[in-house]
Amino acid sequence: MEDFIYHNPTEIRFGDHLDNELTDTLAQFGHRVLLVYGGHSIKHNGLYHRVLDLLADFEVQELGGVAPNPKIDSVRAGQKLAQNVDVVLAVGGGSVVDCAKVIAMAAHYPDDPWQLVVDRDLAAKQSMLPVVDILTLAATGSEMNINAVISDPSQHLKVGARCPHGPNVSFLDPALTTTVPASQTAAGSMDIFSHLCEQYFDRAWPNDASQGMIEGLMRTVITWAPVAIAAPDNLNARSNLMWTATAALNGMVGAGTVNHWSCHAMEHQLSAVYDVTHGVGLGILTPRWMQYVLDHDTSTAALFARFGHRVWDLPTTGPLVKQAQAAIAATATWIAALGFGMTLPAIGIPDTTHFTEMAQVAAANGLDHAYYPLDANAVVKIYQACMTPGLH
Ligand code: NAP
Ligand code: FE
Repeated sequence: MEDFIYHNPTEIRFGDHLDNELTDTLAQFGHRVLLVYGGHSIKHNGLYHRVLDLLADFEVQELGGVAPNPKIDSVRAGQKLAQNVDVVLAVGGGSVVDCAKVIAMAAHYPDDPWQLVVDRDLAAKQSMLPVVDILTLAATGSEMNINAVISDPSQHLKVGARCPHGPNVSFLDPALTTTVPASQTAAGSMDIFSHLCEQYFDRAWPNDASQGMIEGLMRTVITWAPVAIAAPDNLNARSNLMWTATAALNGMVGAGTVNHWSCHAMEHQLSAVYDVTHGVGLGILTPRWMQYVLDHDTSTAALFARFGHRVWDLPTTGPLVKQAQAAIAATATWIAALGFGMTLPAIGIPDTTHFTEMAQVAAANGLDHAYYPLDANAVVKIYQACMTPGLH
């Protein structure tokens, strides 16, 4: 196990707290609020007006229209609005929360906020406005971590920034996620599963404390994602997904790991160039990455076999490589059943034109320290494997 410091002061208010507690929660920071939200979902489901009613005694500025895979231009617009506010209130999914966090960090920064996105040392020195969020989609864990993923389409870049702190308070009401459509429920669940995989398949193995927690969380997503997709109003499913999403990426299960991720680095380039949905890109990449790793290093079979036994209930009989193969097949079957396309052409990426450029950026993002080190050539092969159905 690696050495670590773990400190996570985000306060979680899980369940039906909003109507009674939002006002006091915000008022502790001041009365000038920047409300940040996405497209039309919160207007369609009534949350926008509910929140504005609660903010009746506050001075409110608004930044709407934050897109999935949030763009640096939204941060720039928010930076201007945030000059004279006391607290940033994000209402939405991970894209909105990520954008709000970077706006809070950029509020009193005199230059272009892209510099804060790409320079983690500079970002660590910034003061940051308080952030409160009302989460509407279970996926990213942004509600309880310091990460924020921001894109600059003009440069074909999607970069994981690090903020000085995470949200101060996060309202997690699973009832607010019952309107998430099946496709986004599937993508969000895949993102949760991927966060768990990235920390499970880690060089610091064995880290039984982390891996045991991760196995339990993986089983939770595997069980409840299909239920939420089939029955959007099922609050047991929504609650289990919501808290698992937070627990998967609030630093707890990553403590003691080396924590250099593989599929996210590769996916960020798919999103940067083609603006695909993050969880969908991860769903296509993950089984191909697993297959590539097992094919190139059979010593990884032991960990894949443990994953198969403890997460997928597979038997521990027969050669380890066969057990590992069965675990990868079970993973691919579960992902395919979530219902999104399982090849890159199926999600609108027609050919391999940008693969070399994308692979170079991905590989430069720490992939040499990953569980199985990957260079740009390896990443191109994994992208190519995603062009056709099946794992080879
Ligand atoms: P999202 O991009 O925030 O939202 C996806 C879609 O779901 C949007 O169209 C949104 O519509 C809709 N939506 C959200 N809540 C809804 C609701 N209650 N009812 C109906 N529709 C709803 O999705 P996300 O998966 O949470 O965030 C993805 C982003 O987070 C990506 O950029 C990814 O790279 C990043 N990410 C961040 C972290 C982190 O640690 N910070 C980790 C992993 C990924 P509206 O726009 O209309 O609201
Ligand atoms: Fe993610």
